[in-house]
Amino acid sequence: MSETVERHEFNAEVGRLLDLVVHALYSEREIFLRELVANAADAIDKRRFEALTQSDLSVPADARIRIVPDKEGRRLIITDPGVGMSKAELAQNLGTIARSGTLAFAQTLAESQAADKPSLMGQFGVGFYSAFMVADRVEVTSRRAGSEEAWTWASDGRGDYTLATAARAEPGTDIVLHIKADADEYLEPIRLQTIIRKWADHITIPITVAQDGK
Ligand code: ADP
Ligand code: MG
Repeated sequence: MSETVERHEFNAEVGRLLDLVVHALYSEREIFLRELVANAADAIDKRRFEALTQSDLSVPADARIRIVPDKEGRRLIITDPGVGMSKAELAQNLGTIARSGTLAFAQTLAESQAADKPSLMGQFGVGFYSAFMVADRVEVTSRRAGSEEAWTWASDGRGDYTLATAARAEPGTDIVLHIKADADEYLEPIRLQTIIRKWADHITIPITVAQDGK
């Protein structure tokens, strides 16, 4: 099968949100990991829910969220065996702002005092785009539970994204972050563990942080 690559523009709201998240929230950038882990946990819950009526979608018993730093490749990968996204869902969920109020919240956050930011961000999420605080390119490869097809969404967070055909052995999602030159700390397993303990303590699904490259 030949590869298909399509290029799409972000809508204007996404562009503004990306700008706010990347520039105004810079001092709090470790929360990107909380956002991505929360999305992974939500996706596993959603697959469990769908499996109630479609037993062939059931979540593997050893389901876990895996965080894999790759120092040499300067990549951080977050993998989940969740419900995944179809091509249309990748475009809808990552190319537009699904939740009304997200942009308004980011604006409020950007204008708030530095001391208030952590608690505000604790109450609301800024979501997937927070990945661009630490990454200059993000690739999301996903296979929707119940489908054989996989697609990769990729973007440098500057105006457009691509969708390309991909392969994935099982349903779920891999988020690949190409870590920025000034964000080396997010390739350190110990640093990642600390962030998880601080922000993701309430998540009931096991989370593992791999040693470098394993
Ligand atoms: P929120 O989680 O508040 O809806 P996000 O910006 O964090 O907002 O994520 C946008 C949407 O992208 C999610 O609602 C979900 O539909 C989809 N999504 C993000 N990450 C994943 C994932 N790992 N697996 C499946 N869907 C995901
Ligand atoms: Mg989220």
